[in-house]
Amino acid sequence: MLSIKTRRDAIGLSQGELLIEGGWRPPRAGRTWSHTHPATGEEVGAFAVAEPVDVDEAVRAARKAFDEGPWPRIRAQERIRVLRRAGDLIREHSEELLALQALDNGVPLSFGTQYALSTDCVADIFDHHAGWVDKLGGETLPGYQGGEHLVMTLREPVGVVAAIVPWNGPLLLTAQKVAPALAAGCTVVLKPSEYATFSALRLARLIEEAGLPPGVLNVVTGPGEPTGDALINHPLVDKISFTGSRAVGQRVMAAAANGIKRVSLELGGKSPSLVFADADVYAAAAITMGTVTMGLSGQACVAHSRALVHRDVYDQFLAVAEGLTAIVNYGDPFDPETTASALINPRQLDRVLGYIAKGQEEGARLVCGGQRIDGDLAAGNFVAPTLFADVDNSSTIAQEEIFGPVLAVVPFTEEDEALRLANDVQYGLGATVWTTDVKRAMRLARSVRAGTVGINGYQLEPHASFGGFGRSGLGREGGRASIEAYTELKTVLIPTTEELM
Ligand code: NAD
Repeated sequence: MLSIKTRRDAIGLSQGELLIEGGWRPPRAGRTWSHTHPATGEEVGAFAVAEPVDVDEAVRAARKAFDEGPWPRIRAQERIRVLRRAGDLIREHSEELLALQALDNGVPLSFGTQYALSTDCVADIFDHHAGWVDKLGGETLPGYQGGEHLVMTLREPVGVVAAIVPWNGPLLLTAQKVAPALAAGCTVVLKPSEYATFSALRLARLIEEAGLPPGVLNVVTGPGEPTGDALINHPLVDKISFTGSRAVGQRVMAAAANGIKRVSLELGGKSPSLVFADADVYAAAAITMGTVTMGLSGQACVAHSRALVHRDVYDQFLAVAEGLTAIVNYGDPFDPETTASALINPRQLDRVLGYIAKGQEEGARLVCGGQRIDGDLAAGNFVAPTLFADVDNSSTIAQEEIFGPVLAVVPFTEEDEALRLANDVQYGLGATVWTTDVKRAMRLARSVRAGTVGINGYQLEPHASFGGFGRSGLGREGGRASIEAYTELKTVLIPTTEELM
């Protein structure tokens, strides 16, 4: 049977404590959460569960650091220096961070070479946002009513930010929130996922070591209830920045509505690949199937879990997608031969198997996979890479985010039909158009309703905005939109004659 324990002992886990006002300490009630590894079912270690009393202390520390501390008003150069130092420390501790991530969520080390899941990307996000610190300008406008009147706008930090992160990208997604928030001059209370805490804790230590004043970054660990719930409902939080599921996103939005808090939501997706007959079908099929099987095994928000494929290349697409499963290797995430991870927990395993059963019930054709993996891997949450053909776009497996190694393939004949199918879901996170016809590519890039559209390929860029249309969320991360989301816009009115005063 596969075991993760020697790997864990070699890495050494730090004490799972809370970071509050510059000090690490255990939670007041002393309760802990034990993390079970997705690939082996073994206990990896335990960390603190922050109760409402701990969350309250963390938020008050962030409030004090914002209202009275130096960070929001510090020299731009100093803030830039700290963010760049954080990036450097992340690069220096790359191996350790990736190993901790593998202990958390089981993403194989081999996948850390993919830019989006690499520590290079995480460090680049800090560098990118450091570059915004001295460029957060406003506008100067002429007086609308004419005459001697100046109007100017300023960008100021929004205040105390509650940053809530899911388990599938604990390093990347923590950086996507903490870096812009700090760059804007906010203070932060971070809550990592209970299914990926160790890597987020280490990352937070490194960011703090870069030279943050006490209380600027605080970390509360624990599950949604009680920890996350206490954080989103805390009256001293100004903004909630959430990445996670739609169901929890709705609760976050309700909590934000209650307190009129600012809110950003990065939620799920059902992103399509649109594959035309003139495309490189091999690349389209291998990459699309790869997004739902390799690395995180489809547990990625932008997994392209729906393929809309032209009838002329339909059989070829299915053959390549099925063939790709030969290089999906499950096993020890530290083994360089391992290319894909287990599902995060038994609940997710049951959910994915439930969707597979539903797909068959609703009449889709199971081409391969569909079953749980047993034998040496029976203690882990592994499901064989699964391909469904002849899927009706209105069926459950084409409409709902499965978050597992399942691709639903839907045939089409006309471009208009492909576009209608692509947009006929409630989500709108990503899409990729596969075609060699430039005009068609541009037509579809403009008409597919998704936050990011790839043309013959799709990758994450830290300086480009990322986010969703429709039920995939609210707001954007990356680029100018990202840092502006951590600011308030203030207008300053300046009469320049005595009459207007
Ligand atoms: P989740 O919603 O279960 O949990 C996300 C975070 O919310 C965790 O930290 C969790 O502890 C916390 N939480 C849970 N209940 C809460 C509550 N009542 N109050 C406050 N916080 C609470 O999501 P998950 O399973 O960790 O992640 C998977 C989901 O995240 C998928 O839907 C995926 O698409 C989405 N996701 C989106 C993006 C994106 O950028 N759009 C990126 C990665 C993941």
